[in-house]
Amino acid sequence: MILIVDDQVENIYSLQKLLESKDFLVDTALSGEEALKKVLKNDYALIIMDVQMPGMDGFEVAETLSGFNKTKEIPVIFLSAVNKDKKFITRGYASGGIDYVTKPVDPDILMLKVKTFYRLYEQTLALNETQRALRSEIEERKRAQQELKDQVDQLHSTLESLPQLAFTADAQGQIEFVNNKWLGYAASATSFPETHPEDPEILSLWLDARMREVPLELEVRIKERQAELFRFHLLRIAPIKEKNNNIKWVGTFTDIDDQKQIEKKKDEFLSIASHELKTPLTSIKAYAQLLSRTIDAPEQDPSRKYINKVQHQVSKLNSLITDLLDISKIENGKLKITKKSFDFENLLSSAIDTIYHTHENSQLDIQRQGDRIEETVVGDEIRIEQVLINYLTNAIKYAPNSNQVVVKTERSEGQIRVSVTDFGIGIPEHKLGNIFGKFYRVEESSLRFQGLGIGLYICSEIIKQHNGTVGTTSQLGQGSTFYFTLPLN
Ligand code: ADP
Repeated sequence: MILIVDDQVENIYSLQKLLESKDFLVDTALSGEEALKKVLKNDYALIIMDVQMPGMDGFEVAETLSGFNKTKEIPVIFLSAVNKDKKFITRGYASGGIDYVTKPVDPDILMLKVKTFYRLYEQTLALNETQRALRSEIEERKRAQQELKDQVDQLHSTLESLPQLAFTADAQGQIEFVNNKWLGYAASATSFPETHPEDPEILSLWLDARMREVPLELEVRIKERQAELFRFHLLRIAPIKEKNNNIKWVGTFTDIDDQKQIEKKKDEFLSIASHELKTPLTSIKAYAQLLSRTIDAPEQDPSRKYINKVQHQVSKLNSLITDLLDISKIENGKLKITKKSFDFENLLSSAIDTIYHTHENSQLDIQRQGDRIEETVVGDEIRIEQVLINYLTNAIKYAPNSNQVVVKTERSEGQIRVSVTDFGIGIPEHKLGNIFGKFYRVEESSLRFQGLGIGLYICSEIIKQHNGTVGTTSQLGQGSTFYFTLPLN
């Protein structure tokens, strides 16, 4: 809006008509005082003001306006009929006006000036707005930066208080911070500790994890600098997304050497104990067989019943010891897999027969579903049968109120998938992830059912050595499905 200030109504009238004919919004004031009041209340893009007015003259009004923040940017064009001499014109400019027009006014020239000043005022406003926005953005950035710095400081002091070696690194893997424990193992704050020559290379594995933006977890021996001894550590490096979407990496080395030594001793004990137990047990088994053959008594005779029970218990003990021996073989990398081509259908029938045979007294019903496997499979037939028997035994053992089991085979791109489904107690969902772990048993059922928690672990190791996969799905109280896959070539 444009404000016209003049004490002569007729002057105002003609100028107002002229401006309104060019689509400008116009307001008017009949004195300097009225003009000041209006300017403080409303927003004007331009003031056209007569110099000679009773009371406050135009110069005084302009000087007052230049003293207020709100009004100092408004351009003022002075109109004057009397004071054409240089002194007045100079005062006009000095008081804050940006143009001085003498009467009689040439309407075309005045309109040109008005348009120019109007545009200029709009540009000034836009510029001011941009400046304000910029200033607030700078403030915002400063605040965010400070916040980030506070967070980083907090992270560093947390890392400093950890009992582990800890570091942070940027997206390119450049170490940015290490805690004071770091230098007990690494030569500098920018390099990694020396790893054992037989252990995997940290940097190349981490590079791979960085490319895929996934965490890295690794057991590795690193050298303690003072004692010059390698100690087992669990290395964990995890990506952290910052607010600006940059990735930072935070890593820790946790000393697990004592644990590892204890585990090693336990494995050695298991290995020795199971070997030592196996020899007398084989003799007991042989003598029990001899006894069974030499006893000259009818089927119902108690002595025959007892010898059958002995043989049954001996065979249970034998399979427990065999499992323990398998565990120690896995630990020592000595679980032998002898791969040959074999007929998978034969293996299935044989495993199912064995299960029927060992559960003669129950109403067991094993249903076979799915594709027939015509292709020959390459693998260790005995070990794969062991896996299937283990799945089937568990399916019966953990389903005390059901005698139905489904064995399903499916063929898909380059692999076969064998699943065993039962309708038993099921497994809580949050425990499914651990089920193939060594010595893992589901707590809720461990008292009701006997076992060591190693069968599934051995199964997963056997299938792993055949480049296959194992897995399970289950619903508590409804039943479980355990499956394994094997590649076909
Ligand atoms: P074990 O049966 O000797 O305990 P496994 O390694 O064969 O050892 O099984 C590990 C655990 O998984 C079992 O203790 C049991 O809690 C759970 N489990 C295995 N199979 C089933 C199944 N079919 N249904 C429910 N739970 C099962």
